[in-house]
Amino acid sequence: MERLESLRDDDPVIYGTIRGELNRRRTGLEMIPSENHCSHAVRQALGSILTDKYSEGYAGKRYYGGNEFVDVAERAAIERAKALFGVPHANVQPYSGSPANLAVYFALCKPGDVIMGQSLPDGGHLTHGWKASVTGQFFKSVQYHVRPDGYIDIDEVKKLAEENRPKLIWVGATAYPRGLPFEELGGIADSVGAYLAADISHVAGLIVGGVHRSPVPYAHIITTTTHKTLRGPRGALIMVTEKGMQKDPDLADKVDKAVFPGLQGGPHDHQTAAIAVALLEASRPEFKEYAAQIVKNAKALAAALTENGIRLVSGGTDNHLLLIDLTPFGKGNGVFVQEALDQVGITTNKNTIPNEPASPFYPSGIRLGTAAITTRGMREGEMKLIGRMFADVISEVKGYQLPEDKKQRGEYLNKFRAEISGSKRLAGIKGEVMALCSRFPVYPELEVE
Ligand SMILES: *Cc1c(COP(=O)(O)O)cnc(C)c1O
Repeated sequence: MERLESLRDDDPVIYGTIRGELNRRRTGLEMIPSENHCSHAVRQALGSILTDKYSEGYAGKRYYGGNEFVDVAERAAIERAKALFGVPHANVQPYSGSPANLAVYFALCKPGDVIMGQSLPDGGHLTHGWKASVTGQFFKSVQYHVRPDGYIDIDEVKKLAEENRPKLIWVGATAYPRGLPFEELGGIADSVGAYLAADISHVAGLIVGGVHRSPVPYAHIITTTTHKTLRGPRGALIMVTEKGMQKDPDLADKVDKAVFPGLQGGPHDHQTAAIAVALLEASRPEFKEYAAQIVKNAKALAAALTENGIRLVSGGTDNHLLLIDLTPFGKGNGVFVQEALDQVGITTNKNTIPNEPASPFYPSGIRLGTAAITTRGMREGEMKLIGRMFADVISEVKGYQLPEDKKQRGEYLNKFRAEISGSKRLAGIKGEVMALCSRFPVYPELEVE
């Protein structure tokens, strides 16, 4: 049993924060698709004394002394990543997904080079060349899109690649409910001499579990966060494939140099150790079952939502993620649904949808996923129940319409919040959520007062 007494005595503010968050997680459904509940073992490594060490460099080639134990942890993480994904090279030091992607740019491109990625409102990630990101400003970024049916427009990717001759093409997304087209984009990258980087941050756990195709035969480089479906600590990996080594025998070296000393200083050794633990967990047969159940749950939830009259981008899902299209109820209404869901204890995020009719801050979609609730042990029966709760929440707030006039929005939202805080129907759904959560405990080893 873990009690956090020292923290309670030392810093009541942070102790209270963790207690509050623990209670929030225990009594609510965490359905942000990039989140999960990692294991006690992962958190023990993450909270360990390894945080005190400095180890700039790589195992066996450090700039500091005393790294004999850290080297073991880092080598374990590397070997496990290589075995799990089937690649000849892995770098486990990136602090998180965004710095990992920056390291890929630094390894392959010069400022001003042409790069291509999936547009953010179409589900792509900021770091794939979106204009607000450094990656959209330091490089000449060409963005591809999804078709009206919600699937990546491969014909457009091909046309844009031929017209713009990019150095680097990204495949991977943060709000895309369908399988990623690694083979198709690999062919296009080859035809124009570009590198293909697959950013599998969201679906890494599904790939390891064998329920999403692998990018390994088609991509030169693979990046992934470790904290989403992979269920580890925050962090990231950069892997080089056999295909990447064939295109450029120095690629592994370039990636390592880009991470350190190119972009980062000392690695987070506690994080590296925790990644190693998560990779070991992901290599076990139970993890395959877990990954398969994530997808079964997402499909069951998609069916339940559709039966209850809710529209989904692309009509369903093949992975852990669903994107609700709220445009039948108006434009820019994601904020009302997200806040009403928050009130009943279901955590999701408002998100743009393809061809977003409103704006990124007031988008018309809700993004949700099944990775964390599957970790709790929920299955298809619970998904049916949750789908019905979503429909009830949406129906409770569907009359609210975002004012066209931006100046009126603040006041309108305040009125909305006051009204829903007194909603009996939402209070009833919150009771149902709490009853469901009490049957599927999380962090059972953690006891705080
Ligand atoms: C989450 C994510 C990232 C960024 O990871 P951070 O750890 O938040 O920096 C990058 N790419 C994709 C596709 C992601 O989903």
